[in-house]
Amino acid sequence: MKTSEIRQKFLSFFESKAHHIVSSASLVPGNDPTLLFTNAGMVQFKDVFTGKETRPYNRATSSQRCVRAGGKHNDLENVGYTARHHTFFEMLGNFSFGDYFKQDAIRYAWELLTTVYKLPAEKLWVTVYQEDDEAYDIWASEIGVPKERIIRIGDKGGVRYNSDNFWQMADTGPCGPCSEIFYDHGPDVWGGPPGSPEEDGDRYIEVWNLVFMQFERSADGTMTPLPKPCVDTGMGLERISAVLQHVHSNYEIDLFQSLIQAAARETKTSDLSNNSLKVIADHIRACSFLSIDGVIPSNEGRGYVLRRIIRRALRHGHKLGQKGLFFYRLVQDLGLVMGEAYPELISQRERIEQVLRQEEERFSETLENGMRILEGALVNLPADAKLDGQTLFTLYDTYGFPVDLTADICRERGIEVDLDGFEVAMENQRQMARASGKFKTAEGLSYSGVQTRFDGYTTLEGSGTVTALYVDG
Ligand code: ATP
Ligand code: MG
Ligand code: MG
Ligand code: MG
Repeated sequence: MKTSEIRQKFLSFFESKAHHIVSSASLVPGNDPTLLFTNAGMVQFKDVFTGKETRPYNRATSSQRCVRAGGKHNDLENVGYTARHHTFFEMLGNFSFGDYFKQDAIRYAWELLTTVYKLPAEKLWVTVYQEDDEAYDIWASEIGVPKERIIRIGDKGGVRYNSDNFWQMADTGPCGPCSEIFYDHGPDVWGGPPGSPEEDGDRYIEVWNLVFMQFERSADGTMTPLPKPCVDTGMGLERISAVLQHVHSNYEIDLFQSLIQAAARETKTSDLSNNSLKVIADHIRACSFLSIDGVIPSNEGRGYVLRRIIRRALRHGHKLGQKGLFFYRLVQDLGLVMGEAYPELISQRERIEQVLRQEEERFSETLENGMRILEGALVNLPADAKLDGQTLFTLYDTYGFPVDLTADICRERGIEVDLDGFEVAMENQRQMARASGKFKTAEGLSYSGVQTRFDGYTTLEGSGTVTALYVDG
């Protein structure tokens, strides 16, 4: 079954259960300035869950484009390392706005997986929130999942409402206990069932999360019950496609294989299993879709996340020996595999290419030299030492290497980076700038006299402003 059919079957199934098919919303959330990107199908329905907005339907289904790079759910660091994470992916979902709750959510999910997609029931494992006896009983008694394959997941480290089986969109917003469905890819792959010490492996892959939305969390942590319990589910299209296409990694599905071949063609790489090709294939999707939704590379906020993703892709091209421009050419290939579902990829092709090409030209001027500086520093690095903050800062300031890019190169070689030292170097520069009355980096970033805190790869949600790597505070 091709990815496009799998998407269609999902939507048709829920349409047959009286769900209204809703198109994907933009990656830039229209209803929430604190959220960096749409990171789940529920984002466009956030206000419907809390009762602030009403719709002419109380059941919906969608295939939502999502980006998880920066923000609460950040998978940028996972791309190239796991079989199941992307920066950009599609989330299939069904939603109940105060209509059905746990029982039907679980029944529908099981019916779709075992009768429409025809997955063998014995390969499916489920988790429930530690205290959720109701969900446990539905899985055990009504659906008949053997108890050995139903796992209760509690609160990690005693931090209530922060565990894997309590889902939240961000630090604020609708949330609730959840029940996740895993597929066992078999003993050839390393990993253990959810909750076991080896759960980080990729043998048991989470395919679907059913969230039983019950609360709205406010900035001070208070949990207020929603007007009515709701359902929000999310299934990664690429993950279920891997299962249905009998492959283990998302990168082996039809859509990704085409993109990987295109990346290999453009970078003249013969080994299709090279990891850098996966990263490039992932990143061309994120960058093209962010461009479609109006994000342009810049030095702050969403634009800086886009810039970081583009530069990562270019660095992987460089690693493959590609010295010329290549990345923007993949937009056309992406149009071939996803243009039917997303006609904007075709109609906006030239604009996307132009945005990416410009960034590519800009960065290729400094990439080569920056890599030389970095290689020089790494060669001289004593065993077990971290890469020093001044080098990180020079790479950032003079060569346009986002810190996470340098950190990623170091990670490939088992070397840590000194982020505190980077902060110190940044502060020194700031002091000097203050003394001379101005402070501008090579990137054109200018700083006011306010303290700037390194916020690494994480989050700004809840802080009220959207910022990228550096936030005032
Ligand atoms: P994981 O534990 O594997 O990181 P998650 O629990 O963070 O996944 P959810 O927030 O529950 O994921 O999202 C719902 C579904 O979306 C997941 O079950 C999965 O199928 C899919 N999904 C989540 N993150 C990604 C990603 N980075 N790339 C591809 N699919 C994803
Ligand atoms: Mg995750
Ligand atoms: Mg999970
Ligand atoms: Mg999950």
